[in-house]
Amino acid sequence: MSKKTIEFKTESKKLLDLMINSIYTNKEIFLRELISNASDAIDKYHFSSLTDKDLKKRNDYEIFLEVDKKNRKFRITDNGIGMTYDELVENIGTIAKSGSIEFLKNMKEKDLKKTDLIGQFGVGFYSAFMVSDKVEVITKSAYSDQAYKWTSTGEEGFTIEDTDKEKVGTEIILTIRKNDDDENYDEFLEDYKITQLVKKYSNYVRYPITMEKEKEVPKLDDEGNEIEDETKTIVEKETLNQMTPIWEKNKSEVKEEELNEFYKSQYYDYTDPFMSIWTNVEGKLTYKSIVFIPSKAPQNLYSEKYEKGLQLYTKGVFVMDKCKELVPDYLRFIRGLVVSPDLNLNISREILQKNRQLVNIQKNLEKKIIKRLEKLLKNERDEYIKFWKEFGVNLKYGVYDNFGLKKDLLKDLLLFETVNEDSYVTLEEYVEKMPKGQKEIYYGSANSKTAIKGSPQMDRLKSKGYDVLVLTDEIDEFMINILTEFKKHKFKSINQGDLDLVDDKEKETIKTLETENKDLLAKIKESLNGQVDEVKLSTRLTDSPVCLVSGEGMSFEMEKVMEQLPGDKSKSAKAQKILEINPQHELFQAINQLYKDNSTDLDDYASVLYNQALLIEGLKIEDPVDFSNKMVKILVKAANKGDSSE
Ligand code: ADP
Repeated sequence: MSKKTIEFKTESKKLLDLMINSIYTNKEIFLRELISNASDAIDKYHFSSLTDKDLKKRNDYEIFLEVDKKNRKFRITDNGIGMTYDELVENIGTIAKSGSIEFLKNMKEKDLKKTDLIGQFGVGFYSAFMVSDKVEVITKSAYSDQAYKWTSTGEEGFTIEDTDKEKVGTEIILTIRKNDDDENYDEFLEDYKITQLVKKYSNYVRYPITMEKEKEVPKLDDEGNEIEDETKTIVEKETLNQMTPIWEKNKSEVKEEELNEFYKSQYYDYTDPFMSIWTNVEGKLTYKSIVFIPSKAPQNLYSEKYEKGLQLYTKGVFVMDKCKELVPDYLRFIRGLVVSPDLNLNISREILQKNRQLVNIQKNLEKKIIKRLEKLLKNERDEYIKFWKEFGVNLKYGVYDNFGLKKDLLKDLLLFETVNEDSYVTLEEYVEKMPKGQKEIYYGSANSKTAIKGSPQMDRLKSKGYDVLVLTDEIDEFMINILTEFKKHKFKSINQGDLDLVDDKEKETIKTLETENKDLLAKIKESLNGQVDEVKLSTRLTDSPVCLVSGEGMSFEMEKVMEQLPGDKSKSAKAQKILEINPQHELFQAINQLYKDNSTDLDDYASVLYNQALLIEGLKIEDPVDFSNKMVKILVKAANKGDSSE
């Protein structure tokens, strides 16, 4: 094949431009990125060789680093799987990973932390350009006889040509930049610096990272004795990384910084973990594990592409990267590893799924994690709130999932904002603070606390001093429906059904009023022409003129969520709409008067009232122009009336 020049795709170009012009100040991480690619490639070879008879079984895996100071070359060689021509073009020529462009836009808008860039979207390889004028990739795939050379200076594109390479694997050759005013690149050609970087970032890479180092050793005489003051230079291969698994150590032996670096390099995070949970279980079930809760939820945590799971090792051998059987769905954000000597190395994935051992480890781990979170909530409230803000929604999902299977395990970990409190409360705390006479736990759904605070439905609750849980996440009401009660107190929506807050005498009054105004209420309903299921006098309003509530069962918030789900909307369940009017309010008197006068304005009033109630509920008005016209009509009339009465 002759030499072929290929242009970078637009998004790759932009990303490269950012790399080269170094938005990322921590240039040294390029080495970690390249080493981790090499390690991944060796993993791939290893796993393929377990099942593919055509691949030679090997035990000489290695990542070899080499420096040629004079020519400013830094070479990273691995004996991993290598790349075919197509893979080379596809993997190294494009940053096809979805999201990178949105990410770039986002970064400009929000000035996101620079550290979030690398890794999140698989731009690892490109970080080589932060320190290099030129990058060459020489690679031979385990599935191809031909080797290829990819070359780029990072500007417009790259070239690919045939080349000779004896062994399967990949060689990355960087031509290190010259020092400039801002930056010292020379150090990346120094043995000591490279050693330091490997220890810092890649200490636990499973394969030896080696380098030939020149060493001064004493000269020996013919009899093998050292000659004083005379030395000679020899070249010796040294393994730079420690490889001793961190889980073989005691927790107390591992310094925080070491643990953080381990976490970051193993799990591709750029911030220190929020918390680590160490487990060492011996007996019928034997396993060790280190589980991390990240500080920040990964950007793709809620996308379908996200893969949950823990790394699985057995007898010091790496089995798989994301063993999902170890992690319940609602803890999908955790990262870490499990080491169990009892697992058979050759088990296939299907057998693994049914493995009792794994199921037991999962249950055991889950309990540990929940215990730790309970402890955190009890002893370090502020820290727990940090956790809650980042991952609380997952726990809510855990309550809801599987028809509430885990609700008893999780209910004490839930936090809520409330109308009366400035900070979060647990259900326990809410119940403890309930005033005498309050039987139920009230909650309201809206986009924000302010919306609930100001909603007309709050009127009577406020006057009684009852607090209300503020639900703002989509999952909230579904979760509450599954919980149904806490310590024998039922949950009650302030936007739904009868609130039952008035005493018998008041009830009697309303009933009488309702009978008296039966025709008026029917007239309003008729005038709204099927837009509401019922019009009634309210027992929950004291200050506001109207509100819209839903019947028992489906709520407005749930309806909104359901509407976002794919499928036939016409078939999806709708919330029952009940328009409640406050009989105490002046406006009611006014309408009553219109009705008595047989005024044609009543229709306009009914429509405006209904639309107002919709607005307060955060629901869409069907015909905003009509609403506005009617408002104007009423306002003008009112103003004229005001004039004439002067
Ligand atoms: P990521 O590693 O996040 O996928 P990179 O840009 O670092 O992103 O690498 C892109 C792809 O190029 C890798 O997924 C892999 O398929 C391939 N690749 C990179 N380095 C090597 C290597 N040393 N050996 C084999 N394939 C590699």
